[in-house]
Amino acid sequence: MAAWFSKKPRIAPAGSGDVEPLRQQPSRMQGLWVKCEACEQIIYRQEIERNWNVCPLCGHHLPWPARARLQALLDPGSFEELDRELEPEDPLGFSDSKRYRERLRQTRRALGEADAFVSGLGRLEGHPLSLGAFVFEFMGGSMGSVVGEKVTRIFERAAERRCAALVFSASGGARMQEGIFSLMQMAKTSAAIARFREVKKPFISVMLHPTTGGVAASFAWLGDVVLAEPRALIGFAGPRVIEQTIRQKLPEGFQRSEFLLEHGMVDAIVPRRELRTRLGALLSLMD
Ligand SMILES: [Zn+2]
Repeated sequence: MAAWFSKKPRIAPAGSGDVEPLRQQPSRMQGLWVKCEACEQIIYRQEIERNWNVCPLCGHHLPWPARARLQALLDPGSFEELDRELEPEDPLGFSDSKRYRERLRQTRRALGEADAFVSGLGRLEGHPLSLGAFVFEFMGGSMGSVVGEKVTRIFERAAERRCAALVFSASGGARMQEGIFSLMQMAKTSAAIARFREVKKPFISVMLHPTTGGVAASFAWLGDVVLAEPRALIGFAGPRVIEQTIRQKLPEGFQRSEFLLEHGMVDAIVPRRELRTRLGALLSLMD
């Protein structure tokens, strides 16, 4: 798929706003036991962690932290983190129920992450990759200037090194606290993909639960291959907003990966435990 600005516009772009980042779910991963939100069974925490946070009883995919994901999927010891020094600022002096600066400071202290994205270089089944993953726990994985810059650098590095690019997305969309600076990241990351295309290497986009707003509407859906985890919520605006706007009831399972696969919006749904093998196979074919 070509980036939006390299296509001739057929219709005027819709003036839709972005969705508000999803509120953070309280963690159910604390303590020795975990209750699966799908089958409601109580499972030993270690057992579920060993199974990559997939419920061993019903196959439900629980949230999986970005660093654990990268460690499990990449060749052992191959991940080299970059751009750790990029830190968010508060260009608008924004304040809602709390000052943005304060929110950043508290989230950083709680999670040990400077922003909502981890990126660097790594290998998967021997294939070199420039890659990154969203930290959804950090303000709903919202994309501000730092996340946008980190994503852009993934494509710049992939172009320089002539290797494949891989991004795991889980995001509520643009970061409202950075206003227009957040929205600009959609154009910036998409432009970086357009430049990356010149080296003719693949960009594989993996959409996790949930991938929405400005992230879905920019680079996440611009993958040469777009993969999704089972039952992931993927879309631009939330179902309630769409129903209110078009005044129609939406079909069952709307915006879930299975519905999107049926309608040609994602290329494949890959269960987490099969992801490494599938990515390896794709890279062998395309890289
Ligand atoms: Zn379950």
